[in-house]
Amino acid sequence: MSDIAPLVSQQAHRRAARLVSTLLVLTAVSIYPFLSFTLPEIAPFLPAYGTAVILLEGITAYLLLSQFATRRNVFPGFVAAAYLSLIPLVIVQLLVFPGVFTPTGLLNAGPQSAVWIWVFWHGLFPALMLLACFAERFIKTKQVNYTDLKFWLFGFVLAPLCLSLSLALFATWGSHLLPELIASNSYQQLLHSPYALLVWGLNAFALYVMLMRARLENVLYIWLSVALLASLIDVSLTLFAGARFSLGWYAARISSSVSSMVLLGALLWEVNRLYISTQRANEQLYQQSVRDTLTGLFNRRYLESQLAVQIDHAKRYNEPLCLLVLDVDHFKAFNDRYGHVMGDQCLIEVAKQLQQTLHRPADFVARFGGEEFVVVLPYTNAEGGFSVAEQLRLHIQQARLEYQGQVLSVTASIGLAVLQHDEDSAQSLLIAADKALYQAKAAGRNCVKAANEPAVS
Ligand code: GH3
Ligand code: MG
Ligand code: MG
Repeated sequence: MSDIAPLVSQQAHRRAARLVSTLLVLTAVSIYPFLSFTLPEIAPFLPAYGTAVILLEGITAYLLLSQFATRRNVFPGFVAAAYLSLIPLVIVQLLVFPGVFTPTGLLNAGPQSAVWIWVFWHGLFPALMLLACFAERFIKTKQVNYTDLKFWLFGFVLAPLCLSLSLALFATWGSHLLPELIASNSYQQLLHSPYALLVWGLNAFALYVMLMRARLENVLYIWLSVALLASLIDVSLTLFAGARFSLGWYAARISSSVSSMVLLGALLWEVNRLYISTQRANEQLYQQSVRDTLTGLFNRRYLESQLAVQIDHAKRYNEPLCLLVLDVDHFKAFNDRYGHVMGDQCLIEVAKQLQQTLHRPADFVARFGGEEFVVVLPYTNAEGGFSVAEQLRLHIQQARLEYQGQVLSVTASIGLAVLQHDEDSAQSLLIAADKALYQAKAAGRNCVKAANEPAVS
């Protein structure tokens, strides 16, 4: 996201992040007096919450890893590792949590297992975020080599998964080696243990470091700060609630889901913006590839592809098609006399007249090269084409150009050809119209001549 940040307004992200943060803090403060209020034990709550967190963290990690794979910047890779590390812990906690699958939890877990998994989960996430910040700061190579990319990707996926799975299994089977933190549903012991302070401190420190980074022009830091704030609120609410299934305990889990959600939301929004801007860039590139830069008319490449299509269409449906080749008269002299800049202005004016005169949607005009233009008139026979050509010629003749107080005008000659035989092609039509143009030049210029069409010549 750091690399696509220039596409969007930093301010918009900052405003949205501030709004989410304010809402989080206000909600936490307003429910503070009621945190220990006991609520009913809602059986589907934990599985639903756990599934949501697993999916959100998984998709976030995937998007961040894709960013790392494209940009090869280590920071999103480390952040992806932090998000991935939560997945085994959440899964194992769901399995061992008393009352979710069996009254005492699966996997022969002890009564302290779930709470210790909570400690590892909420300690590991900020610790890995800190690691991401320090890695970004202290790893000299900002971009990893293509050859090392796979190695890094494996590292970002396997290391956090192995580490957090080991911690989860240690909490499951080795919980008797760990101090007691929970008795019945109350974890007052946790609140008064150094582990609470450690977990809270890690979250607060990670938030502080990320906020310092968020001052930099980087959207990813801004949203990670919100995620870490939600995580700190999650920890604070859990600790001060003091017991499972209290208002604070439920609110903490909701805050934890917000922590998972915000970054994903921002990433998806960015991906969508990127998609839209890519579409626009594609459209722009296409337009650039088919347009003539001086006049804005279609270029020769477009003419060649479209003329062939129109000829095929006309043959298949037995429709007439007319082609005009137009050439500005004595343009070399015009250029020599008034200079190339004025020559260019003249071509722009001719192009304007051509576009303004053509009305039918299927008609189009292209700059063929230099001061030659080709007009394609589908569904138009020789008579119709001749009348359009006359209008074009007249409008060009009537056009006025300003040059150092003088009013200049130009004329153009036009050659016309119609599709007549099945073997006619774009090339043969162009040759025929060009021959007619030559006749128009020979006949004194500023006139229209048709090829093989004595009725209109
Ligand atoms: P004719 O009446 O027989 O058509 O004479 P002409 O001078 O128009 O024909 P010719 O083909 O001999 O000259 C074309 C001139 O067009 C050559 C060049 O000076 C000018 N020209 C071609 N492309 C451009 C352009 O993009 N800008 C400008 N300013 N001039 C151009
Ligand atoms: Mg010419
Ligand atoms: Mg010319």
